[in-house]
Amino acid sequence: MRAHLLSLALALPILAASCTEPPQVAAVANPVGAAAVTQERLLAAASEPGSWLAAGGDFEEQRFSRLDQIDASNVARLGLAWFADIDTERGQEATPVVVDGVLYLTTAWSMVKAYNIADGTLLWAYDPAVDRAKGADACCDVVNRGVAVWEGKVYFGTIDGRLIALDGKTGEVVWQQQTVDASMPYTITGVPRIIRGKVVIGNGGAEYRVRGYVTAYDAATGDQLWRYFTVPGDPSLPFEQPELAEAAKTWKGEWWKLGGGGTVWDGMAWDEKSGLLYLGVGNGTPWNQGLRSPGGGDNLFLSSIVAIDPETGSYKWHYQTTPGETWDYTATQPMIIADLTYPSGPRRVVMQAPKNGFFYVLDAATGELLSAEKFAPLTWATHVDMATGRPVEVAEARYEVTGKPAIVAPGALGMHNWHPMAFSRDTGYVYIPVTVNNAPYAAAKNFVPNMTGWNTGTDFAGGADLYKQPGAPPRGNVESYILAWDPVAAKEVWRIPNEVYGASGLLATAGNLIFSGNHKGEFVAYRADTGEKLWSAPTQARVVAAPSTYMVNGEQHVAILVGARGLPTDQIRTNPASANNSRLLVFKIDGDKTLPATLQVRNNAGPVKIDPPLLTASNETVASGEQAFATHCAMCHGVNSVPGAGSIGPDLRYSALLSFRGQWNEAVLEGNRAQRGMPGFANILRDGESEAILAYVIKRANDEKAAQEAAATQ
Ligand code: CA
Repeated sequence: MRAHLLSLALALPILAASCTEPPQVAAVANPVGAAAVTQERLLAAASEPGSWLAAGGDFEEQRFSRLDQIDASNVARLGLAWFADIDTERGQEATPVVVDGVLYLTTAWSMVKAYNIADGTLLWAYDPAVDRAKGADACCDVVNRGVAVWEGKVYFGTIDGRLIALDGKTGEVVWQQQTVDASMPYTITGVPRIIRGKVVIGNGGAEYRVRGYVTAYDAATGDQLWRYFTVPGDPSLPFEQPELAEAAKTWKGEWWKLGGGGTVWDGMAWDEKSGLLYLGVGNGTPWNQGLRSPGGGDNLFLSSIVAIDPETGSYKWHYQTTPGETWDYTATQPMIIADLTYPSGPRRVVMQAPKNGFFYVLDAATGELLSAEKFAPLTWATHVDMATGRPVEVAEARYEVTGKPAIVAPGALGMHNWHPMAFSRDTGYVYIPVTVNNAPYAAAKNFVPNMTGWNTGTDFAGGADLYKQPGAPPRGNVESYILAWDPVAAKEVWRIPNEVYGASGLLATAGNLIFSGNHKGEFVAYRADTGEKLWSAPTQARVVAAPSTYMVNGEQHVAILVGARGLPTDQIRTNPASANNSRLLVFKIDGDKTLPATLQVRNNAGPVKIDPPLLTASNETVASGEQAFATHCAMCHGVNSVPGAGSIGPDLRYSALLSFRGQWNEAVLEGNRAQRGMPGFANILRDGESEAILAYVIKRANDEKAAQEAAATQ
């Protein structure tokens, strides 16, 4: 709970938002750190392009900047203006927010940092001191996607469920609220939205056993104003909202016992014109609908966009993207509000590219479905019936109904995940970071609710044999690309393939540019109209976050937070504080800084040699370890103990613990690495299972060692 005043040498000229580039607007002359975002200022964000007032850019969340000083003709001269090492080494997902001379961002473990944009000085840093053991409740890393700024304060959520308001100038805590039952596996990774002085925050945890909701607090005092639940609770109790009585009719069995899911962990957007707040609602708990709601049903409001009145938290309308979802097909993805021009006339719309692979355009006021077309080669449905608004499913995809495993595209990663898309008001295209993938889905054979880990009700190893059949697709991650999508024509315009699989957030600008990082270790600018690559700079890190852009002293800058999921191939560690080279990188025309070429401290990570002990366990032990690994370990450490792009845990085949049974058990059973994110499984694993898993990983490590030796002798 500490704020560090690292530098208050603020006798610098105040240059915030001093836009000298067209469109000409009045500079906002606030003191550095004033954080003076107001309703009027946010609504007029387009006239203040020198700032980046909210994570999504403005209320409409288009991630489009009207700045055009950097354009297709000069972007090749872009260089590093300054950078800052980040002192955490997990995923960095925040979009920098820039207002009144300060750049605010969050990092892994819900920490906040404030930099003076004039010279990159760290003004203050705040660490909410999250118990590292809480990392066990984060399905997908201990990330945070950024702050909201409002009337002098900086708001953000923490991985342990708090909503905190800091003083924008000093980083001191003004108020904080616990927004969840702290005994439950809720987490917060998303950005708060602020609507007329109300801070709205959601939460995550639908892989575990929670019930989703959002809560509004008074931005000034922190007092709770309303709470909106996305799925019905125990029907023997009064429903909190009248529409939940209707929603409950679409559920069967005893869904509330594991919470039902439906968390709002990322996308929300407020449309000032329609007066509605859109909530992106997540998947069910468990995923497997046969276990969650035996006999089916739509299970409202899972996988839906729900529009509510932000003044009262009351329901207005919804559109469900995936009725009866059973594949982790969240509709939590970012939503963009825009005025589109159809041949029939203008429409104000809300747009989303959720995991399920359809791009939806809805009327912003009424929720009327305007289009729903595939933006990626999904296989769970053939199309959306525009008369009913419902997907027409492929029967084989419902593994829980057929009782047969199935390969389904996309898998739980989704064709598009949280990585922000952008909409250019100039080209009219939406730019989507697409990840084409598939996964085997199989119902868990003997599902027992897990009170500390995941409850998907599926068997991650089940269905793997399907990939051996003729005609089976390549398993898992197939390809990824930036897709330019015409939302009026509802079709692809072009795509930019990524050399290395993975998604990264996007920014579009009036300079006819889009900016994106990638997983090869680059930050890249492309022409917004054609997708032509114009410029790139090394990041020494994987990039998942989205950039933002702003003005300093008459110069346009572009900022991007980098670092996620280990180093890209062929990259070495150069940041002494972060093994994955997490950094804030800031670029401008003719910037002349360079990233360090080497790490001058200990722990220089060279190539690691694989060196497992000999396998002495029986085949039966290894086989039982394989089963236990698939159930308990694979979601973090990779299927078959091979971490993929989505894995957050280390590659256990290289672990030094493989030779030390006692230390292995201390880590796996007793949780002596809980502070580093590895919880203890003593209450979950059966007798002998920890050592069976050890035997299996030793087997996999020896497989890899043999493969490496065979490759070396060829
Ligand atoms: Ca999920």
